[in-house]
Amino acid sequence: MVPEIIKPSFHEGSTLPYLGKTYPIRIFKNQPKNSISFLNHQFIIRLLPVSSSSSAREYSDLIAKLYYGWLRKTARPIFKNKVEEVSSKLCFDKPKEIRIKKLKNRWSSLTPSGTINLNVNLLKTPSDVIDYIILHELCHFKFKEHSRHYWDLVHKHMPNYQEKIDWLNVNGVNLIY
Ligand SMILES: [Zn+2]
Repeated sequence: MVPEIIKPSFHEGSTLPYLGKTYPIRIFKNQPKNSISFLNHQFIIRLLPVSSSSSAREYSDLIAKLYYGWLRKTARPIFKNKVEEVSSKLCFDKPKEIRIKKLKNRWSSLTPSGTINLNVNLLKTPSDVIDYIILHELCHFKFKEHSRHYWDLVHKHMPNYQEKIDWLNVNGVNLIY
């Protein structure tokens, strides 16, 4: 398998990932405020006027920041719905809280108090990969360890879960930055 997603450069002409696909960015400079929106399969980025000495690096840092703000805001309702959907399918405990974090080295975790932590970068992965990650964590309510019983439970609810793990193994490194 080859990676489907590459790391963005955050410049005009580059693309940004969202739910497993990449979309071009359009940059409009000298705007009344900094903003980002997703419209007609494009990321529209509006930037305030900046001094002529601003480097390309400063622009790309600003775009990265806007994109992460957008990811966080957009992730919350999507992740929340998915957690509810998977919880109701499993018919056991629901997480007490959903926390969305920018994590460097893991996709998710479930705390002993029942909080599910989800990496904001998951919003860059296909919808069914997010479903797998949530299923993975919620199955830990029943089995703490990655035992055979645990994986049987995951398999029962998502027979092709290995494909999702493979996708993350191939693309994951390009999604965390
Ligand atoms: Zn696990």
